[in-house]
Formats: sequence, structure tokens, C-alpha cells
Amino acid sequence: MENRSLKLNKYSVGIGDRFAHQAKAQLQACMKALASGVEVIPVWNKSNREHTIIGSEPASTRQAADAAVKALGWKLPYFCDADHITLETVRRFLDACDFYTIDVADFIGRAAPEADIDGFVKRHPELLGRIQLEGTDEAFQITPENLRQTAGKYLTAVKKAGEVYRAIEKAKGAGNFIPEVSMDETDSAQSPVELLIILAAIAGEGIPIQTIAPKFSGRFNKGVDYIGDVAQFGREFALDVAAIAYAVGHFGLPANLKLSVHSGSDKFSIYPAIHSAMKKFDAGVHLKTAGTTWLEELIGLAEAGGEGLALAKEIYAEAYARREELCAPYATVIDIDPARLPSPDKVRGWTSEQYTSALRHVRGAAAYNSSLRQLLHVGFKVAAKMGRRYLDLLEANETVIAKNVTENLYDRHIAPVFLGR
Ligand SMILES: [Zn+2]
Repeated sequence: MENRSLKLNKYSVGIGDRFAHQAKAQLQACMKALASGVEVIPVWNKSNREHTIIGSEPASTRQAADAAVKALGWKLPYFCDADHITLETVRRFLDACDFYTIDVADFIGRAAPEADIDGFVKRHPELLGRIQLEGTDEAFQITPENLRQTAGKYLTAVKKAGEVYRAIEKAKGAGNFIPEVSMDETDSAQSPVELLIILAAIAGEGIPIQTIAPKFSGRFNKGVDYIGDVAQFGREFALDVAAIAYAVGHFGLPANLKLSVHSGSDKFSIYPAIHSAMKKFDAGVHLKTAGTTWLEELIGLAEAGGEGLALAKEIYAEAYARREELCAPYATVIDIDPARLPSPDKVRGWTSEQYTSALRHVRGAAAYNSSLRQLLHVGFKVAAKMGRRYLDLLEANETVIAKNVTENLYDRHIAPVFLGR
């Protein structure tokens, strides 16, 4: 597994750019990190769902990334991530991408054949009993029953990941892409012990994963802060990091294997816990953010005033009118309180300042409205339908939008997670 060529760096940030207009402004945030002495590698991620809603192709993400890298003279690696792909959706991403998030969440809990479970348990006597994790004062205690049960729950999903991995490998060649396995889009979180057992299975399946995205406990709604027990998250996250170090040492997985945090953006309250675990274990992290850059486009348009502000209001009005339809595909990852959504009439009377301060996510800011933010987050379909009209205004207001995009990504995500401030 070690002779692969493409290797993901220790620190990386996944960035979404729905309309493929902000790659330069996003890369600028990585340049700022570099100027502060920390290499954070950009990975442009876009899912099949996003491409379908926008009506775009993966090649457009690649072109935007390549152009930004060229324009800014970025010399470090960068990648394009086929986000949450399956065997059914991977095909259109094969040319443009070099990072694949293999989503097998739908296969969790599908009972594995008894013979597979028997074989797995037999191959892993070292998992039974007490496992002391380096760097923590906690140990895992795994009984034969636990091991069988966990194998039964996850082996089918891991087998599926192997199937998808091999399909990509056949098309692109081993070592020409970064494989990630994701299990986050499911109902129940995976414990650190389960993560360790899953990693043993992934190694057995021969998938040289460089990142793994478990589901953590708590809620990771799109574009808003974490909801859950921050202290518990911190303990589990540290154990996950320790479990990964153990898996690298014992199962022969790539040495740069790290957690991929599918944050959905803006998980400000858990960023300090993530940073402190990274420091304590000298561990890397892939922080995947959602397409919230599109909200910075709206903030920039609103800040610009005039036609920009008018369009931002129009988008809100239409998103409000179509809120049920727009929210449906994201029902499990948003929590909108309808009573907190201002009427479009009210928003029509807003100043630039009123619009931007309701939408911009500044912790503790009185005017910030998380319901409005989530509705607009899923409302990108409205802007997509406007086509050129929306894109022309993006281009006309590039400077003010870029400032917001860079500042949001750097100040609110990269700096707290990777620089600890
Ligand atoms: Zn995810």
C-alpha cells in the first residue's frame, strides 16, 4: 500500500464553490495560512447532488481550481474531491477528480454473511481484550460479542467501499487519487471503538484510505454551529485520533491517514477541541466545509447595495416561498424555526447592514439569524435558475464578494482549526 504517488498533506481544508466563481478567493485563505507558517492544502469538493441541482459538471470545478492555482502561483498540492460518490454516481467524476469520498453510509447495518464475520474475527485476535491507546489514559475493552456485532454491522459497508475503490482504481490507476471512506450521513454516530474495528476491516479490504469520515456524536447541521455536548465531542474526537494512530501502526494503513470532519461548515464551538487533539497527538485533519461560500456571495451582493442588494432580497423572497421544496432534500441536516424567518416584505425594507448581519455567522451577534441562514443555504437552486443574471452580478461585485469569502474561510475556519486562534 505504500508505493502510491498522490499523498494528502497533514492539514487540508475541503471547500465548496457551488457556482465555481470563488476558487481564487478561497485559495487566498490558504495563502494567508501559508503566510502564517502553516500549510493547509485546498481540496475543492462538490457532490453529485450539487452538480445536479446547479446543472454543472465536475470539469467546471477542476477548471476553476486550476485557474485559481495558476493565477495566484500556488506551488503546493491541491485536489478536486468527488464528494459522497457511490458506484452509481462515480462515473462522471473519473476524469476531473483526484480525490474520492466513497460514501457507504447506506450499507451500514446490512447484515454481513456469517462466514465473513467468522473470518474477520479469526483474523483479528489482537482486537480482543484490552487495547491501550497511546497518548490517552483510556483503553478499549472489546469482547468477542462486541467484535462480532460491530463486524456484522459494518462489514457489508466496508466491502462496498472496496468495490467502489477498485472501480476507481481500474479507471485511474492505483496511487493516482486520494481515497476517503465516509460513513457520516447516517442516523447513529460511530464510537471510537467501532472506528478502530472499521479501520481493521478497511485495511483487510485493501483500501489505502488517507482519510476517514465517521459520524461524530451531536448534530452537524449545514452552515450553523454544532449542537451537542462539546466536552463529550472532545473526548470522542481525541479517542478517534488515537484509534487512527493505532490502526496505522497495526493494520498497515497509510501513515498519513487522518480524520475527515464533514463539518457542514461553521462548527465554531468544537474547533478548539479539534485543534487541541491535533496538537496533543501531532495529528492531521481534513476539515471539509459545505457550500457556505455561496452565502458569502449573497453577503457580498447585499453589502454592495443597489442591484446586488435587490437580488439578494429577491433570492430570499423566492427561497421563502419555496421553502418546503428547497428544504426537503436536506431535511436531516437543517433545523429551521419557521417563526424566526422574517417575511419577504420585511426583508424588502432592509438595508445592506440589516441583511448582512442577519446572514453573516458571527458567534453571539444579536442580529444573526440561523433559520434565515439555513434557508438561504439550501436556497442555491433559486440562484442557479437565475443563470447569467446571478453570475453577472457576481462578476460585477467580485471584489466585495472575494473579501467576504476569504475572510470567512480564513478567520472563521482555518485559523481556529489549524492555527488555534
Ligand atoms: Zn459528509
